[in-house]
Amino acid sequence: MTAQATPGPDSGGDGGTRFDAIVLGAGISGLVCASVLLDQGSRRVLVVDEYPRVGGNHLDFHLGDYTFDVGSLVFQDDSPLLRHFPEITDRYLPIDPTWGRLNPQGVVTEYPFSVRDDFLAAGPRECALLLLSAAAARVRHRRPRNAQEFARRWIGPRLLDRSGLGTYMARFCGVAPEHVELEFAEQRMMWIAEHASVGNLSRRVLRALRDRRPGRRPAPAQPVVQTNRQLVRPREGFTHLYAPARDRLESRGTTFQLGMRADRLHREDGAFRLDVAGQTFVAPRVISTIPVDQALDLIGAPGDQPLPSVTLVTLFLSFAGRRGFDDPILYNFSHDGAWKRLTVHSDFYGPVGGREYLAVEVLGDMVGASVDRAAADFRAHTAANGLFTGDLRLEGGHVLEHAYPIYTAGSGARSRRLIATLRDFGLESFGRQGGFQYQPTARVSTVEAERTLGVSS
Ligand SMILES: Cc1cc2nc3c(=O)[nH]c(=O)nc-3n(C[C@H](O)[C@H](O)[C@H](O)COP(=O)(O)OP(=O)(O)OC[C@H]3O[C@@H](n4cnc5c(N)ncnc54)[C@H](O)[C@@H]3O)c2cc1C
Repeated sequence: MTAQATPGPDSGGDGGTRFDAIVLGAGISGLVCASVLLDQGSRRVLVVDEYPRVGGNHLDFHLGDYTFDVGSLVFQDDSPLLRHFPEITDRYLPIDPTWGRLNPQGVVTEYPFSVRDDFLAAGPRECALLLLSAAAARVRHRRPRNAQEFARRWIGPRLLDRSGLGTYMARFCGVAPEHVELEFAEQRMMWIAEHASVGNLSRRVLRALRDRRPGRRPAPAQPVVQTNRQLVRPREGFTHLYAPARDRLESRGTTFQLGMRADRLHREDGAFRLDVAGQTFVAPRVISTIPVDQALDLIGAPGDQPLPSVTLVTLFLSFAGRRGFDDPILYNFSHDGAWKRLTVHSDFYGPVGGREYLAVEVLGDMVGASVDRAAADFRAHTAANGLFTGDLRLEGGHVLEHAYPIYTAGSGARSRRLIATLRDFGLESFGRQGGFQYQPTARVSTVEAERTLGVSS
């Protein structure tokens, strides 16, 4: 599986194999980076990753006939990633997903917010208090300082609590929202501002009131106008999905060193020398998409404490029985339960032996990074809310470190300082891990890699 870089005409006399550029990490950022470097004239590019395959943290697990993902991975057919690797387009499976949410009142409702269930169902007195709280917060938090104040500014503390958004934010970040930097909220949570605009809210309240009149059937939910197709990986998994991307890069001059961790990077006579599993690779340019802390270790300049990131526990479950929800993707906005989101893969790929199957994301910090603890908590909470009635079986689980960065107070500025240390050494560093950026989608990672390497869109 691993392509060995055997010394050839491009070998340095000192045994180091020479490349035009070395890329650390074969995730989306690393793959796009290699593609751009080849476009820009590099002839020999080396990509190194400790995983034995390309695709980075797009991970799937095959257990018997089930295939589970780590996380809920949905893609779009207009992603700029497909300009680099057009051959993968036909390998995706088109889907028509809906997203639901369990709110603190135990109702499965619209994601991310339901005027009917989160607001009107509270009754006239509470509705008035919710509005007063929202109005006061717009004045009070004119200049929010953290994620909590950002969310309060838009919907008020009372609705933040009633809708469960405040609890979800803590579950997403692993720390209380008042400790999460405003920068993160602005990157990740602008949808709150969009949903809470006066025009948007008035339209939704009027529609919900109209639907509540006696004898009136609820109007169908406004179709989300989507100009792109939603996609998931093929049933065979991510390795099958990304195989053509790897082939394309190899045919253009890329060598992959996979399943190997880079040991040391140093500079000699103006060139970089990278040691990987007893081999040395030499190049005038090295680009890193691996976690910043690991890149600092590699150059022998470790930081005093690691940048904060989420450890994600994923549960792999199968189920036979009655489900208390229809959506294939369900978020937990209730005040209890450690789980964050579940994805019913069998809604996309079909059941296996009459059983549905799903993956559940749980923040590691909430369950001591233990699959068993996460599973016990999930069982108890979903049973109490009637989400699964029947035979729910734990098929397996996975613990992923560095799933995504968290911007706790000061960490944005600290990450920029550390990335500047790498830059001073000559190492360019970007991507979800390498740039310490949330980057929610492969699309964002692609655009960011192109921008950093000077590709004009
Ligand atoms: C839980 C989860 C859910 C997601 N959901 C979606 C979604 O719905 N839609 C979507 O488009 N995208 C989703 N994404 C991912 C999103 O696409 C990211 O933007 C993208 O994966 C970031 O890619 P990257 O290459 O920057 O980082 P990564 O994918 O993290 O790649 C970094 C690579 O560096 C390697 N590495 C680390 N340390 C070393 C070392 N010392 N030596 C060698 N190699 C090393 C790792 O093995 C890894 O392959 C999700 C990601 C996760 C984790």
